Amino acid sequence: MCAGAFGEKEVLLPERMLQFVHLPQQMPEKRNVLRRRTDFDEIYRQFEPDEAARQASRCSQCGVPFCLIHCPLHNNIPDWLKLAAEGRLEDAYEISSATNNFPEICGRICPQDRLCEGNCVLEKGHGAVTIGAVERFITDTAFERGWVKPIRPHRELALSVGIVGAGPAGLAAAEELRRQGYAVDVYDRYDRVGGLLIYGIPNFKLEKEVVLRRWRLLEESGVRFHLNTTLGKDISLETLRQRHAAVLIATGVYKPRELGGPGVGLEGIVPALDYLIASNRKGLGDPVPAFESGLLNAAGKQVVVIGGGDTAMDCVRTAVRQGATSVKCLYRRDRANMPGSMREVKNAEEEGVEFVWLAAPEAFFGEGSVRAVRAVRMRLGMPDASGRQSVHPEEGGHFMVPADLVIKALGFDPEPLPVLWNEPQLEVTRHGMVKINHRTFMTSLPGVFAAGDIVRGASLVVWAIRDGRDAAAQIHSYIQQSAQLAEAAD
Ligand code: FAD
Ligand code: SF4
Ligand code: SF4
Repeated sequence: MCAGAFGEKEVLLPERMLQFVHLPQQMPEKRNVLRRRTDFDEIYRQFEPDEAARQASRCSQCGVPFCLIHCPLHNNIPDWLKLAAEGRLEDAYEISSATNNFPEICGRICPQDRLCEGNCVLEKGHGAVTIGAVERFITDTAFERGWVKPIRPHRELALSVGIVGAGPAGLAAAEELRRQGYAVDVYDRYDRVGGLLIYGIPNFKLEKEVVLRRWRLLEESGVRFHLNTTLGKDISLETLRQRHAAVLIATGVYKPRELGGPGVGLEGIVPALDYLIASNRKGLGDPVPAFESGLLNAAGKQVVVIGGGDTAMDCVRTAVRQGATSVKCLYRRDRANMPGSMREVKNAEEEGVEFVWLAAPEAFFGEGSVRAVRAVRMRLGMPDASGRQSVHPEEGGHFMVPADLVIKALGFDPEPLPVLWNEPQLEVTRHGMVKINHRTFMTSLPGVFAAGDIVRGASLVVWAIRDGRDAAAQIHSYIQQSAQLAEAAD
């Protein structure tokens, strides 16, 4: 080991890479489970500088880095790991932020076990390099040290781009276009910036200050936000097309998939996002009548969450923190076939959530309000066309689960946008997603582009960032080409 400086702090740095032979994998410490069940603070502590350096030094600097290949942003992971191991954090930040607009957010909430870390060559045998935690450490440190600066474009262009949706796709595109010198106007129906980062994902995974500081930075960079502005209600797509040289649609998918069965309309059966938005707003200090009345509050209740994705995991863990008396997650497949991150399942189990695998709801009982769910045991069959194992109900396999709050977390679909926005020319796929040319990101409307969940369906933050960046590059070349054509015609 050799001594190195992290700001004022002197730390011991590893002398070389490939330390996986000597150093075991170490994730950032998790907060005590009894403590974290009672608050909404993030559960992972930040690495200390020497821990981050040591963990980064485990990387074997692969010639063909599978971690990089499986990161949707193709982050230069081996390079910034080496720099972090050497204590050159400002350089590591420069490299990391060159390919990712929000590395500290991805470091916290990417399902790394399915992406970079799940594909690290050390995963089998030694334990993957803790890539996400180092990525988060680098950018959190950059913010603390003042290395993250507002954008000052080399030249200001007279043209503007309108972006609808202030989620990760819209924000990544806004940053990239502002860097090119465009005036950027972002419109969102919410009163805060961040999309699902602010109102969907709970604080214990992503503290809201992390999102709010990005909002402040974008404003300081000159991005103009028009909040409480709903496309199709307060403003039309036609107006935006006239106002801006190009428009990007990044509005995400929000229509909850519905449950069927008798009693499904009983009070106390609520959509997951309504429940999570109420909880996040409460945490941000907003008045939330449906929370105060108890409708969207799990305190003192027997909670049943239906679904097996990230949204379901966020609901069960929110219910624990709100003081539910019991929290059960009903999922019709088994643990191995669950779409949610295994890391999140483990965290939920530690916090006291009971998973009822191979169980599907059939009917809901209660007088006015729900009191119980009748579920049926399922068995797995042969894989279907998509490769996933089919599920079939077991004959006579019924059982009752007591419940005063049932949260439906079955996924999301897009709303019928051409109708809502009165834009019949806007083409959508048979699933209702906005149709784009995947090379140009342009929709069927000239000069109108689309990115993020509204194109790919409910996905991941890291993919939304990737799409936002790619769409911004295509918007830039579209505007340049249009200007050249106009010049040639003069
Ligand atoms: P969004 O984040 O949905 O943003 C869309 C924005 O458009 C919103 O601000 C919305 O208000 C605005 N908008 C919509 N319609 C209009 C309109 N008509 N006019 C004006 N504005 C409009 N991904 C991960 O990688 N890790 C996780 O841990 C994770 N957890 C999740 C937990 C939950 C509960 C949910 C629901 C999703 C989670 N995801 C997670 C998925 C991730 O949040 C999304 O894939 C990502 O946010 C999509 O980004 P986006 O910019 O396309 O859309
Ligand atoms: Fe891994 Fe996500 Fe970071 Fe890529 S962006 S390196 S997938 S944590
Ligand atoms: Fe390092 Fe693992 Fe990536 Fe190889 S796959 S470069 S060991 S992080």
